[in-house]
Amino acid sequence: MENGSTKTSAAQTTANEICMEFDAISENEGLARVVIAAFLSRIDPTVDEIEDVKTAVSEAVTNAVIHGYGERGGRIVMRAHLSEEKVLSVDISDKGVGIADVEQAMQPLFTTGAAKERSGMGFSFMEAFMDQIEVESSVGEGTCVHMWKRFAGRQDEPAPILQAAVWNRSGRA
Ligand code: ATP
Ligand code: MG
Repeated sequence: MENGSTKTSAAQTTANEICMEFDAISENEGLARVVIAAFLSRIDPTVDEIEDVKTAVSEAVTNAVIHGYGERGGRIVMRAHLSEEKVLSVDISDKGVGIADVEQAMQPLFTTGAAKERSGMGFSFMEAFMDQIEVESSVGEGTCVHMWKRFAGRQDEPAPILQAAVWNRSGRA
């Protein structure tokens, strides 16, 4: 099965992990988005997949900045790991005020930031755009949001332009 084994090695990727610590200021939300997109680029994700992860990461970072630390500021850690099977895990953690009731906080439309025009949809977006999310939090100690997403990968498929060429060659285009 020569073809089969070639396909398997193309579908796999070397595991990789990064860890980034940064100030809890809103401009670093954009930095986290760019870094996670660059980290994923080696597995050739779709535009939609990248957008999903960037949105989930920026929601978690924004929460750490606004709710975790508020005015007092602090540090946020983003750890991202990509397995050989193209499963991404991302943890966003802060050492801020923590969440008293995580289940309640994760309900759609629940917010403690109504005065700041928050809508209570951040966790819902994270859940919608990632495959799995878990939140660990202790009041006075901080919060860690763990998120996972499996990437289908399209390295085995010819790029659209190549696909068109294949069709042309077989007279199907
Ligand atoms: P939106 O994300 O729509 O702007 P929101 O941030 O209030 O509004 P969620 O992101 O769903 O909505 O978060 C719900 C609530 O969970 C927040 O209002 C806040 O009380 C709490 N929360 C979320 N993340 C943290 C955090 N890192 N530290 C402390 N509290 C948090
Ligand atoms: Mg939010």
